[in-house]
Amino acid sequence: MIKVGIVGYRGMVGSVLMQRMIQEGDLNNFIPTFFSTSQAGEVHEVHGFSTGVVEDAYDITALSGMDVILSCRGGSYTEKIYPELERAGYQGHFIDASSALRMREDAVIVLDPVNGGLIAENLRRGARIWVGGNCTVSLMLMGLGGLFQKGMVEWVSSMTYQAASGAGALNMKELLRQMGFLSQAAGKEAQDPASSILEIDRRVSQAMKEGAFPQDLFGAPLAGSLIPWIDRAASEGQSREEWKGHVETNKILGLSQPIPVDGLCVRVGAMRCHSQALTIKLRRDYPLEE
Ligand code: NAP
Repeated sequence: MIKVGIVGYRGMVGSVLMQRMIQEGDLNNFIPTFFSTSQAGEVHEVHGFSTGVVEDAYDITALSGMDVILSCRGGSYTEKIYPELERAGYQGHFIDASSALRMREDAVIVLDPVNGGLIAENLRRGARIWVGGNCTVSLMLMGLGGLFQKGMVEWVSSMTYQAASGAGALNMKELLRQMGFLSQAAGKEAQDPASSILEIDRRVSQAMKEGAFPQDLFGAPLAGSLIPWIDRAASEGQSREEWKGHVETNKILGLSQPIPVDGLCVRVGAMRCHSQALTIKLRRDYPLEE
């Protein structure tokens, strides 16, 4: 059986993936070894499955012994570790949830079945880097892949409203701390239907500006507000999250004539589940039923 090294199983993406793979019985089909950047030497139970002794995720020798490395650890980890693996002559497959390698020529963005053909073709050609797409791009294409594949789309304007989960486990906890902080600031008046809402609102607004307001990770209040900016700045005034909408959609579909995709990406104070609104310009009129 092939050996699969699983890195980042504790995070938001990793724990959802583990839950799903355990439900599906996937772990019976390979020999898993669990790696962590912070928990080496520990033994964890993940949804009832024992990790065995967790290995050090910075140990290139241990990682190189894996036929497949599956990382949900994040971009900074991949940026550090993948060049080291390449220098060590690693010949196995690298499957990554982060965007660090997504735009490399030799990396395939995986969105089965939308680009199943492209995946199979690259597998035959010997590709070894497989990257999960940005979640909102993937969601959009799961719904609209058929329109793109039939060449019906001229351009897309997308508005995405993304939950705290998209920023990771620690950010979700920060959102909860923000909610708790604001609730405390509102005081018992929040329980009283007869109390003055303007006074509560004043206290909540004031609390958001306090130095003690917990915002180390988001950098701004998400509870009681929203953040119309995700990730870092890209070119031409876009955020990187907005930039990904265009480049990843076109790469996933393997389009030689790019289809413009642009829009706004907003972080909202939901725990999980993103939503998006799409305006699509079709190349010609089609009946709605079609
Ligand atoms: P995350 O929740 O922040 O977890 C990343 C890593 O942080 C964990 O694997 C863990 O690694 C470490 N960590 C440190 N303290 C932790 C704690 N208290 N609880 C859990 N983990 C802790 O990140 P993520 O949201 O899973 O994202 C991982 C990658 O996937 C990122 O590159 C992200 O951009 C990408 N991605 C995320 C989403 C999403 O919806 N969240 C969707 C698509 C792609 P160690 O065991 O090594 O300490």
